[in-house]
Amino acid sequence: AKAKIAVNGYGTIGKRVADAVKAQDDMEVVGISKRTPNYEAAVAHQLGYDIYAPAENVGAFEKAGMPAAGSVEEMIEKADLVVDCTPGGVGEKNKPLYEKAGVKAIWQGGESHPIAGFSFNAVSNYEGALGRDLVRVVSCNTTGLCRTITPIDRELGVKKVRAILARRATDPNDIKKGPINAIVLHPVKLPSHHGPDVRSVIPHINITSAALLVPTTLMHLHTVNMEVDTDCTAEDIKKIFSSQSRIRFIGQGITSTAEIMEVARDIKRPRNDMWENCIWPESITVDEKEFYFFQAIHQESIVVPENVDAIRAMMELESDGAKSIEKTNKALGM
Ligand code: NAD
Repeated sequence: AKAKIAVNGYGTIGKRVADAVKAQDDMEVVGISKRTPNYEAAVAHQLGYDIYAPAENVGAFEKAGMPAAGSVEEMIEKADLVVDCTPGGVGEKNKPLYEKAGVKAIWQGGESHPIAGFSFNAVSNYEGALGRDLVRVVSCNTTGLCRTITPIDRELGVKKVRAILARRATDPNDIKKGPINAIVLHPVKLPSHHGPDVRSVIPHINITSAALLVPTTLMHLHTVNMEVDTDCTAEDIKKIFSSQSRIRFIGQGITSTAEIMEVARDIKRPRNDMWENCIWPESITVDEKEFYFFQAIHQESIVVPENVDAIRAMMELESDGAKSIEKTNKALGM
């Protein structure tokens, strides 16, 4: 039987996770939750998802012509595992709900590490999530960093990482947040939370980070510097990165995130999603045992395949992380 997955919170991440789960042959979506019958709920209804709502709002869905299948509690009862995709800080309030129903749960990077006691990145610690009841899939930026640090650490040994993150101000569908004309120190006090967050996945890594918010909705841009234990060339680094299925090399005249998003459109990715870290191989520069590179991270989609792998590990559908990654990628068309 397929693993029964519920998606609680159908926003930027939730809608993508639902579609990605649906694309796999060993798991299925038993329902998604929306609070109000808005335009996103209407599309979910059109796509054939069973919509669940807070009990007091079920009537409103009926009235809007997209009848809800039941309450959020009823959705959770039907599931083996709930992927909580509510806004950061809200997910924590849902924990008692999941515990009461005895279902497994995944939270996203907007929650902090202790909520699950295990922070996940497929290439870094898949095996640690095997059979676990509670997992947190780390944020887009932390995922982007872990995907590059782990393979370099395994091949060359990472002594120290320094990362500067230019973060997209908000997501493309967001009409409320800025900045629209400023670069904002986010936060002023260093390091930013990203370095410490990487250590929630790979605790032995020495890493510091700084982050700026920039007025764009198209991807984050990382400048990453790593010091390694072993002599290496740019070719060695490229070879390590090119062995990673969730790293894509960017070049051919591309010097911006806008052009990467155009590639995603051109290759007909769903919602223009770019699930891979986009690294400019030309930027990889080695100086003694230290190297630099640029990578762009598509905030809306990079954690989506990671959620699928986390489900597979927690449900013990596959014991080998590399095999799960391959299976997820293939089903998505990566
Ligand atoms: P979002 O605001 O796009 O979506 C959240 C969804 O939850 C919406 O459908 C909203 O209606 C619903 N919701 C709001 N309040 C709720 C409540 N009290 N109970 C139930 N549902 C509620 O948020 P998002 O960007 O998808 O982020 C979800 C999580 O994923 C956060 O932890 C965030 O930090 C993390 N994340 C976001 C991004 C990103 O760039 N958007 C990237 C990686 C991780």
